[in-house]
Amino acid sequence: MGAGVGGLSTGMMLKSIGCKVSIFEKLAENTSDGVGLQISANGIRALKTYGLENEIAELGDYPDFIGCINGLTGVELAKIPLGKTAEKLYGAGFYQFHRADFISLLRRENFRLGVNIFYKTQVLEIEHDLNGATVITSEGSCSRFDLIVAADGINSTTRNKIFEANPPVFLKQVAYRTVISTDKLPKAFAIRQTRLFLGAGKHVVSYPIRKGSLVNFVFCTEFDSYCQEIWNREVNPQEIQEKFAEFVGLKEVLKNIVSVKKWGLFEHTSLDSWHRNRVVLLGDACHPILPYLAQGATQAIEDAHELCIRIKKSFENHNLEQELVRYAKNRIPRVRRVGRASRLNAKLFHLRNPILVFTFHLILRMLGNIYPKYFLRRFSWIYAGGPS
Ligand SMILES: Cc1cc2nc3c(=O)[nH]c(=O)nc-3n(C[C@H](O)[C@H](O)[C@H](O)COP(=O)(O)OP(=O)(O)OC[C@H]3O[C@@H](n4cnc5c(N)ncnc54)[C@H](O)[C@@H]3O)c2cc1C
Repeated sequence: MGAGVGGLSTGMMLKSIGCKVSIFEKLAENTSDGVGLQISANGIRALKTYGLENEIAELGDYPDFIGCINGLTGVELAKIPLGKTAEKLYGAGFYQFHRADFISLLRRENFRLGVNIFYKTQVLEIEHDLNGATVITSEGSCSRFDLIVAADGINSTTRNKIFEANPPVFLKQVAYRTVISTDKLPKAFAIRQTRLFLGAGKHVVSYPIRKGSLVNFVFCTEFDSYCQEIWNREVNPQEIQEKFAEFVGLKEVLKNIVSVKKWGLFEHTSLDSWHRNRVVLLGDACHPILPYLAQGATQAIEDAHELCIRIKKSFENHNLEQELVRYAKNRIPRVRRVGRASRLNAKLFHLRNPILVFTFHLILRMLGNIYPKYFLRRFSWIYAGGPS
């Protein structure tokens, strides 16, 4: 259920081990968001297991570095190697995609394998017991399955109806997202590089997508007024132009924004169990992650890979219940740790105290000169980890 990154990854993975798979998606085909998506080595490695290596390389942009920049002066503080360095360390590269292209890649793979995807079909109700589950859809159909994987995203109705309905808490932070044609930007943005601009209480991430023809921008800032947790709310570009006016290196960028979307960031309660009878949660539905480490989609891919490993195991031991428990047991500590690391990144990126900012920037400069791989190594547990 759900044809986002998590649902489509699950679909093709389960089909590849011989399961009969149907996916219900409430939106029409080709309605993916027109912004960027970074998938780190751990996600790419999982997808390589299912033979998507060539398609990924053909479609994705492959950054050589992450440049950490003082947003207020435009001075580069450190250059973190990615590209071949990351590939050697982690057995897969880091890639950046236009979200719609990445979703199309997964969808094509599902169709190639023979997965049925029902678009414009919302799941309205799920009835479940120890032996299976039935979905009732907006099209009036009623279908019974051995297992339902609910990958229905950040506002998951499955989570709210079957698991828990604690309201998420607004963190007083927002993310603005936009994409700009590279030919409208200073030449530096055409380089195969991810950029992180740091400021007081805010930061900006940029990276090229569609083979360098577009640049994706995510502007994150603290924000007092309430903002909904939806991804596609258009706001006036003036709002972002005012909020980030002090970022000297982004003046041309801010001038060229014609369309921008704003998304409120929320804290969700963490679930201790991811399945009830024959309904199992996956991706943002069970563990929304703040975007400060770019791991939300990648962790959904890891979930799908782990679930597939567990279901394959259940073919041998005929104990699906036990394998669903193991799926959550293997995944929950990892996604919680990623969540904590992401929150810590937010604190570091948004430092305000001038002494702390000075110290942080000094550390970035020193490590950037002496041992730039440190910044990757610090997160080796993420990039080298995941299901195996
Ligand atoms: C600003 C921003 C930047 C991000 N950047 C990155 C990044 O660089 N790297 C990264 O790894 N992650 C990133 N993420 C997070 C990432 O996009 C999500 O974690 C990921 O999309 C989660 O995938 P999912 O399949 O769980 O949910 P989704 O992609 O949200 O998919 C859920 C699907 O379920 C469908 N659906 C919902 N309810 C129903 C229903 N009742 N019936 C049928 N269908 C239903 C929805 O229409 C949707 O298609 C970012 C997020 C944001 C907002």
